[in-house]
Amino acid sequence: MITEIKYKKQICDIGKRIYDKGFVAANDGNISIRISDNEFLITPTGVSKGSLTPEMIIKVDGQGAALEGDYRPTSEMKMHLLVYQERPDIQAVVHVHPPYATAFAIAGIPLDQAIMPESVVYLGTIPVAEYGTPSTVEVPNAIKKHVHEHQGVLLENHGALTWGKDLEHAYYLMESLEFTAKINWIAKQLNGDRELSKNHVQTLVEMKAKMGIKGKSPLGAETPEGLHAKKVTPSREQVLSQQDLNSIVERVTKNILNELKKHL
Ligand SMILES: [Zn+2]
Repeated sequence: MITEIKYKKQICDIGKRIYDKGFVAANDGNISIRISDNEFLITPTGVSKGSLTPEMIIKVDGQGAALEGDYRPTSEMKMHLLVYQERPDIQAVVHVHPPYATAFAIAGIPLDQAIMPESVVYLGTIPVAEYGTPSTVEVPNAIKKHVHEHQGVLLENHGALTWGKDLEHAYYLMESLEFTAKINWIAKQLNGDRELSKNHVQTLVEMKAKMGIKGKSPLGAETPEGLHAKKVTPSREQVLSQQDLNSIVERVTKNILNELKKHL
């Protein structure tokens, strides 16, 4: 059995990783672990996750009352406790503000496209949970709708939250979530965020079931060819270029002037 101090050290280790990865700025982000049915270890408020030490970690109960520790728990504790209440199988929760995923959260775009096999199998779809004022019950209320069918959410105009069977799992889900958002964004710049077809996704979903991985998967693209992926956004050729636009304006102007001349 892992002792409490080992769990606290693990939280400090993951805190350093999220800080070094640029998933948070200053004192942002929070991490928690369930250590028994009604006891949780959670990070303090007002401390950078890059410089946590084990004595800073607080022990709280399911209602958020402090059981041990000199620091004040994170003001975003309610959303951690909601996940544990709703999902008895979950042992750890990670909340950060990774730039690409947070940009998707600000744009209100869920990560629900089947763009890569790994994200279909390991991450599944990540919805956007409606905006709630941090530290209020609005945040857990918004997450509640999604917590049973997903492994994480984007928090609208705020950041991202993942939950897992242990802390390493919750952290790796966050890494995958940010990586998926980043690649999705880059592919969009190339006008090439082509989605896997339904058939391809179906094969991946069967693999996922055999591996015992839960959570909703993307649907994949409906393609007449069956196995070919389609472009999600219009291709470069389909988008009207500025040059095309200028030549149209030029032609229309010429026609109008010609018509006017006839009447002079
Ligand atoms: Zn936050």
